[in-house]
Amino acid sequence: MGSRKGAKGKEIPALRVLSAFLLIAMYTGPGRAQKSQSAPGPTAKVVYLRCGVLFDGKSDSPRKNVVIAVKGEKIREVGAPEAEIVAAELIDLSRETCLPGLIDTHTHVLLQGDITAADYDEQLLKQSPEYRTILATVNARRALEYGFTSIRDVETEGAGYADADLKKAINNGVIPGPRMQVATRALDVTGAYPLLGYAPNVHVPHGVQVVDGADEARKAVREQIMYGADWIKVYSDRSYRLRDDGVLDDIPTFTLEELKAIVDEAHRQRRKVASHAMALNGVHNSVEAGVDSIEHGNYIAPEDLKTMAAHGTFYVPTIFVGAYVAQGRAAEGAPVWVKMLAVHEETFRRAIKAGVKIAFGTDAGGFAWTENPAQEFAYMVKWGMTPAQAIRSATASAAELLGTSDQVGTIEAGKFADIVAVPGDPLADVTQLEKVDFVMKGGVVAKGGR
Ligand SMILES: [Zn+2]
Repeated sequence: MGSRKGAKGKEIPALRVLSAFLLIAMYTGPGRAQKSQSAPGPTAKVVYLRCGVLFDGKSDSPRKNVVIAVKGEKIREVGAPEAEIVAAELIDLSRETCLPGLIDTHTHVLLQGDITAADYDEQLLKQSPEYRTILATVNARRALEYGFTSIRDVETEGAGYADADLKKAINNGVIPGPRMQVATRALDVTGAYPLLGYAPNVHVPHGVQVVDGADEARKAVREQIMYGADWIKVYSDRSYRLRDDGVLDDIPTFTLEELKAIVDEAHRQRRKVASHAMALNGVHNSVEAGVDSIEHGNYIAPEDLKTMAAHGTFYVPTIFVGAYVAQGRAAEGAPVWVKMLAVHEETFRRAIKAGVKIAFGTDAGGFAWTENPAQEFAYMVKWGMTPAQAIRSATASAAELLGTSDQVGTIEAGKFADIVAVPGDPLADVTQLEKVDFVMKGGVVAKGGR
């Protein structure tokens, strides 16, 4: 099969019929072209991207005027010689900065923003999983167009295994979207996760799979993996309050024994565990149980940061969403969400100092998908990262968390051609990443270009 470029079929007459078919397939949507990309044949043309500036994600020093040669879905060469460039196959990004495709390691494509409990209940009670899946296809395309060529979607919030199907539809070229790793239904204990507050005789849906006891938890992990979970997501704490000494306290959900069973079963089956843990006990139990990433981590005790650094446990801070929902939740009677921001900033600064691995994650879906998740970058820099560090958290570091470092996260020969471009200099002004105007995923242009 030819690439999208090859599909234009000028070179070999014998392939004209096939090329015509591919041309039709191409116009049924960018996704179809992606499928033809999955097995690029010898006819795949080379496409050239002329980058005014290249930040390849390996080094912190940008390079000027670099041409990237892309063949099929992969990068063939970074720094292709001028003499080799075919003008007709050149995408001119000479006034842009090229970067590796961005990676958001904490999204919810099945969610449309839930500032208040009512927002959340409405989605689970009044929208069918089928309708929510239709909305999710739009969110997946939005994520890609914002510049996120990979996402880790950390649970469907009551929409069952729809994320696994969404991933399948993207991989089969049915709809456009980022590369996805999915967590399916997530796990929590009885009485800990919405929908809550309804009469005992009223049966309402839950945003998670409810499990109690190590055996039930282990069985649920097996079930979720059977239906397509790449990750297991657990909710490790709830009910937050700020103590006088500045420590954010919580009620831990799972017992340590339950959490350990979940981690053991997931790891036994070569899956990783992401733990929603915002405060003291939830984080501590998660770190002790050996989870792979701490999600949110508004407060993390110094000893737990030390353990995380030693074990290589990732911190996915999701700052923007906290700021986004704070006022709304305070108005609803939970002022702790406003106070949490200062605690979060202090934790984030301590985590950088402690050398904890930090991966970019936004909780998109927790806020509406019409908001660009790249607003997270500005918070990371405001709270102490350099722009280069923030960009690396969303490229090389995020790929490390996802276990896809050999495929994505940097711009180098042999990796997927997941490349984005912005008009200005993101190393001087990180908000440039909110202005991605060119997106290529697997050698296929998803936005901008020419
Ligand atoms: Zn989340």
